[in-house]
Amino acid sequence: MTDIHIRKSGHAGRITLQRPKALNALTYKMCLQIDDALKAWRDDDEVALVILDAVGDKAFCAGGDIAEMYETGTKGDYEYGRKFWFDEYRMNNRIHEYPKPVVSFLQGFTMGGGVGAGCHGSHRIVGETSQIAMPECGIGLVPDVGGSFVLANAPGRLGEYLGTTAARMNAGDAILVGFADSFIPQSEWPALIEALETTGDISVLEQAAHDPPEAPLLAITDEVDRHFAGESLGDILNSLENDGGEFAQDAIKRLSRNAPLSMACTIEMIHRLRGRNLTMRKALDMEYRFTYRAMEHGDFIEGIRAQIIDKDRNPKWQHPLNGVPPVAVSKMLIPLGKNAVHFDEEEDSMKIGFIGLGNMGGPMAANLAKAGYKVAGFDTQNVEIEGVENASSAVDVAKEADVVITMLPNGAILRAVADQIIPVMKKGSVVLDCSTVDVESARDVAAQANEAELLSLDAPVSGGVGGASGGTLTFMVGGDQNGFDVALPLFEVMGQKAVHCGPSGNGQAAKICNNMILGITMIGTCEAFALADKLGLDRQAMFDVVSTSSGYSWTMNAYCPAPGVGPQSPADNGYLPGFAAELMLKDLRLSQQAAKAADADTPMGQAATELYEQFVENEDGLGKDFSAMLPRLEKRGRS
Ligand code: NAD
Repeated sequence: MTDIHIRKSGHAGRITLQRPKALNALTYKMCLQIDDALKAWRDDDEVALVILDAVGDKAFCAGGDIAEMYETGTKGDYEYGRKFWFDEYRMNNRIHEYPKPVVSFLQGFTMGGGVGAGCHGSHRIVGETSQIAMPECGIGLVPDVGGSFVLANAPGRLGEYLGTTAARMNAGDAILVGFADSFIPQSEWPALIEALETTGDISVLEQAAHDPPEAPLLAITDEVDRHFAGESLGDILNSLENDGGEFAQDAIKRLSRNAPLSMACTIEMIHRLRGRNLTMRKALDMEYRFTYRAMEHGDFIEGIRAQIIDKDRNPKWQHPLNGVPPVAVSKMLIPLGKNAVHFDEEEDSMKIGFIGLGNMGGPMAANLAKAGYKVAGFDTQNVEIEGVENASSAVDVAKEADVVITMLPNGAILRAVADQIIPVMKKGSVVLDCSTVDVESARDVAAQANEAELLSLDAPVSGGVGGASGGTLTFMVGGDQNGFDVALPLFEVMGQKAVHCGPSGNGQAAKICNNMILGITMIGTCEAFALADKLGLDRQAMFDVVSTSSGYSWTMNAYCPAPGVGPQSPADNGYLPGFAAELMLKDLRLSQQAAKAADADTPMGQAATELYEQFVENEDGLGKDFSAMLPRLEKRGRS
């Protein structure tokens, strides 16, 4: 099961979170997938409304998945977290500003990141088990993902109370405060979702709404308003301490658990945001000021350690509860200038640099441009690719790009290009090599990129020129998860499948192993046809048997080397490539180079390499499809 299920059903765009074991916690990838789906459906006439729901009884979504942020943050790499929040907030805002109804069904826990996805649509449905909260101050953050927008709009001082204490709301509370719209018993949700899908009409929701359960917050609003009206966290604490009653004691207990700097900033944020001119964008901008700095200057790393990693619940916050200096608050909330979160569509689209616009690179770059990406390209041959802006050098392409894709003939050329572009690329941008090269070159280039604080992926492809122009390539990807997540939307445009195979070099390793099997099986299939001929076995009969027996393979069933037999293949076209024999030879040589370096015994791979070498270099194989091994073998006898 994937973490998220995105599809169209009837008149609805459906987004279902399905990581129930992790309480549907949102990963960075899930945020990007939600955002991509919303973008795609905005102008899609088949989608009348969007439904957001989740699998499992316990939670709609208990928060953002912060494990990766913690891991990168503890190593002093703050960029991953910043990028996660940046893109997540844009997704939150997209939900809030969406031109079509967004209906969310919020069973169980909806907290933090879950609020960002579930509580900004037009129709937010809660049920008997709903529990909503903004618990960020407990881990050294502030109520974010647009939570500060809802809190600043909440009645009285409930925003300050809920934001700092992280108190949970039931369905009645959530409607009172503004996190939800309607209460509908959960047993009715499946039928309601079906009705929304079939009709595409949100009026079915109005008919289904029930009176919400009592809101326990109503019983304490007077005290909340009295104590949480102070200018600062210090004022609030003083007021509570001077009271000593049950509510005050409980509130102090709750506040004592959370990061003082976070709570002080929460109060300040809500005060600055509250008012008639408040917009979601303003709230997200304010939140991002804090989260951008949270790892480096806040208590976030320590908060995660204490609550989630070591679980000792004994965080060492930077400041005592009643001792956060006002200047510390100001420093966290100073505007970020050029680093601020923005919601601009034009700037939003990733800038792509493409180096190597040959048989493969050309159509791949064209597909990206067609999908709306801004693509600048460079090739040493003067080529024009539709939609791709021609640059005068590799350096020019690389300077401005968020992702530089290379599609080059071999590892030596890749290394030479990498030497030029890596020094000029922006920190945090991605080097994405799709060429087929040796594992060592891939790993060396990745190390060079990582040293320059760039992300790097080796992502060789299979699918050939047809796959490149049709956008149906398969990518085998090596490199870290963050880079993979950034590149995923690009893989989705250029191909139909991307498999993350592990760290740098593993994409090339997968490609080389796959193509070694391909070369060996093609020779085996051709040998068997040549033998069958000599034994007087009809080729069609041979195909009919083998393609459904244990000798079947891709080379037999999908790319049959015998003309007139099986599906259409280069054999039916005079053995024009397709996949040229010299490219097969290149990949087989890479496999043997890797086998030698890794001390792996590959006798069949070696034999296949020698045979293709002979075919390409000494016979007439050059420029022919690699399946032309069949006419070669056909002509020969045993010696
Ligand atoms: P190609 O020769 O058509 O394209 C390579 C391009 O790189 C050429 O246009 C060349 O001018 C350009 N180039 C060379 N040096 C350069 C430099 N320093 N700066 C900028 N551009 C430069 O080859 P292709 O078929 O597009 O294959 C590209 C890669 O994809 C290879 O690594 C190949 O093994 C791999 N591949 C090819 C296929 C296929 O079926 N063609 C399938 C899978 C993988």
